[in-house]
Amino acid sequence: MYDLIIIGSGPAGVAAAVYAARKHLKTVIIAEEIGGQSLVSDNIENWIGSPKVSGIDLAKAFAAHLEAVKGDKVTLATKERVISLTKGEGGFVAKTKSGKEFSARAVLVASGAGRKKLGIPGADRLENKGLTYCASCDGPLFSGMDVAVIGGGNAGFETALQLLAYAKSVTLLHRHKDFKADPVTVERARAHTNMHILAPTEPTEVLGEQFVNGLKYTNKESGEVKDLAVSGIFVEVGVNPNTDFLDGLVELDPIKRVKVDPHNQRTSVEGIWAAGDATDELYHQNNIAAGDGVKALEDIYLWIKKH
Ligand SMILES: Cc1cc2nc3c(=O)[nH]c(=O)nc-3n(C[C@H](O)[C@H](O)[C@H](O)COP(=O)(O)OP(=O)(O)OC[C@H]3O[C@@H](n4cnc5c(N)ncnc54)[C@H](O)[C@@H]3O)c2cc1C
Repeated sequence: MYDLIIIGSGPAGVAAAVYAARKHLKTVIIAEEIGGQSLVSDNIENWIGSPKVSGIDLAKAFAAHLEAVKGDKVTLATKERVISLTKGEGGFVAKTKSGKEFSARAVLVASGAGRKKLGIPGADRLENKGLTYCASCDGPLFSGMDVAVIGGGNAGFETALQLLAYAKSVTLLHRHKDFKADPVTVERARAHTNMHILAPTEPTEVLGEQFVNGLKYTNKESGEVKDLAVSGIFVEVGVNPNTDFLDGLVELDPIKRVKVDPHNQRTSVEGIWAAGDATDELYHQNNIAAGDGVKALEDIYLWIKKH
């Protein structure tokens, strides 16, 4: 039996694991990979201490840090996906998709979030046939072409900036007039002459037979319906928390994020903490996830010593 199971190894899980190792807690980290969701990001420019780092290099740094501190206390169970978490004798049992079971007195949920799908006609049919959720993976395939980005948050504008390096034109569609993205990122994208913004607009259909050849959208002010001719569509409409395995165990908010006490990251169940994008934390960023992971671990350590 472990002292602690950490589910996930993005910034929240890795930060907590580093602290757990230094506090000699017998810990297992269960995760599909090390790095988390910004693995696909080309440029992260706000990870404190690094003016610029790619998602892949950040993940390598996480892995190196874990390797340096883990000693014989921290076990890595990567390429594993937790499918259920239940209360067991003296703690909790996590079961993985491959059939393994791990038990511990305490659990930190740091399972982050995954991409929200574009739920309009044509989107599923043409996924990976011109419609994609990963600019870093697929962007270069659209060199010299007209492409669209859907979403006006940081991820949408960062995707547009990546694509502007090689696409013929990038048109970003957003539901509202105001953007959620940082003004500095919006301005950087707007400075490109081949960057176009259509807002407030609502995409209504992905067009094309074998491959994407356009996008139908409605102008939300005039009600006008138009077709935009594009060969590629990059979707950045937000994320869904990875919390399915918690259903019925801890309290979740209406969009299935784990409700936590922001003072110490405790959930509604004693012995389970949560940190990062899987929680109802207002702001979702790497530094915040790492900080929440550390905050949780400090509290977990004191709790384990007391019990
Ligand atoms: C394209 C993109 C660009 C971004 N750019 C920035 C940026 O520039 N700066 C910034 O601060 N933030 C950025 N973000 C946001 C940032 O990536 C997140 O806030 C951060 O990754 C959250 O960290 P986390 O540890 O909570 O979860 P995640 O990073 O989502 O990590 C979750 C971990 O849990 C694992 N996992 C999930 N479900 C299970 C399961 N059932 N069983 C086992 N393991 C599981 C995953 O494999 C992963 O290891 C970006 C996000 C995206 C998508």
